[in-house]
Amino acid sequence: MINKKLQNALNGQINEEIFSAYLYLSMAAYFQSLNLNGFAAWMKAQAKEEMSHAMKFFGFIDEMEGRVTLKAVQEPQKEWKSPLDAFSAARQHERHISGCINDLYRLAQAENCYPMQIMLQEFIKEQVEEEATAAAIVHQLGQIQDSPQGLWWIDRELGARKAD
Ligand code: MG
Repeated sequence: MINKKLQNALNGQINEEIFSAYLYLSMAAYFQSLNLNGFAAWMKAQAKEEMSHAMKFFGFIDEMEGRVTLKAVQEPQKEWKSPLDAFSAARQHERHISGCINDLYRLAQAENCYPMQIMLQEFIKEQVEEEATAAAIVHQLGQIQDSPQGLWWIDRELGARKAD
């Protein structure tokens, strides 16, 4: 069983994860509009991964005999100033998600819910990866400045990401 407080917080996280998928899909559309198809493919793969995160929370609530309730999904931003601007926003967003996961963990501790603490550990590790990946791409984009060759190279690299 899961108490109402934890159930509400976990339902809130489903919304955060679905919004993440929506944001990255919006970024994919932005990159497609620039003909940066490798960047777009990377963002689409990222969006899929976010949906799988949402489904893990969805499944956990059900397993714990709670009730999943879905909220409205916020409209994502549509335009960015540059690929660097978009990836900086992605990094900021992942920092925000890390904060959400940490808050959930604290709540699970305060409510003595051990299964939720164990479930969240995977996400705590995942967020370290997500932040590091976004930071590495922000760094690369910063290094190439506005070089079209540099951008072409990163586009190729990002396009090689396997869809999860
Ligand atoms: Mg996520």
